[in-house]
Amino acid sequence: MNSFEISLDPFRAMVLMNAPIELLGEGFRWLEGPVWFADHDCLYVSDIPNDRVLRWTQDGGVSVFRRPSGFANGHARDREGRLIGCSHQNRCITRLELDGTLTVLASHYRGKRLNSPNDIVCKSDGSIWFSDPPYGINTDYEGGKQASELPPSLYRLDGVTGALSVVADDFNGPNGLAFSPDERLLYVAETGRQFDPAASQYIRRFNVSADGRLSGGDRFYKVHPGFADGFRLDEDGNIWSSAGDGVHCISPQGELLGKILTGCVVSNVAFGGRNRSRLFICASQQLLAIYTNVRGCIRP
Ligand code: MG
Repeated sequence: MNSFEISLDPFRAMVLMNAPIELLGEGFRWLEGPVWFADHDCLYVSDIPNDRVLRWTQDGGVSVFRRPSGFANGHARDREGRLIGCSHQNRCITRLELDGTLTVLASHYRGKRLNSPNDIVCKSDGSIWFSDPPYGINTDYEGGKQASELPPSLYRLDGVTGALSVVADDFNGPNGLAFSPDERLLYVAETGRQFDPAASQYIRRFNVSADGRLSGGDRFYKVHPGFADGFRLDEDGNIWSSAGDGVHCISPQGELLGKILTGCVVSNVAFGGRNRSRLFICASQQLLAIYTNVRGCIRP
């Protein structure tokens, strides 16, 4: 039987007590960056230290999609159906074109190299938003030791002009990010210095103006144990976040609704499958999935 932790009663109706946590694959080094392609009926996911992007389908299981991947981390899908990705090693944002070629969308800001783009999301106006902490250039394990040239910041790449701008720079390690269903709010994880238990481990929440500027940014939720590496929202605006003990479900009011306990550290999640109700979970060395009774936000 599954391991749920019910913190508030509404969570009982959001999960399915008889739906198991399914093991879709194992033996990876560190999974991250899951993204669902509904029309391909598949999940793409990064195995960062193995420098590869994997593809999972229900019938075919896990296969290698792209290797080397530039130590790819976060992924998103743009409005034209293309795979948008973060490369630690090459310190850039990429777009995999429909013909299979790779386009670098952003690698520098004001003449200096980005650190190691970590997580990424596409907005309905065509803009691309991503975090740029130095985690991928701190070690050889996840990309390669290199010197940082820029402070850790949150960026917006304009979908029309291609201009890159900093939208927030007061971060101690920006990480996962996701918009609310109406795109008026942006949630961003702040994960601080790695392995520092005193570091900030919060999800912050910003207001998003129509022209793409941020305001607010207060701490919205403190993740414990562990930290919120990445997360996705359901269509009701609840946040399904990675944490040190599994997946935490957090209401738009910042209350912990409940947990899916995986028994290991989770780095990120993505809704997919039929009706977007299946939650794919990057659980350290394992790829897991569980059917839920909610549907993922249509613009993850
Ligand atoms: Mg991350």
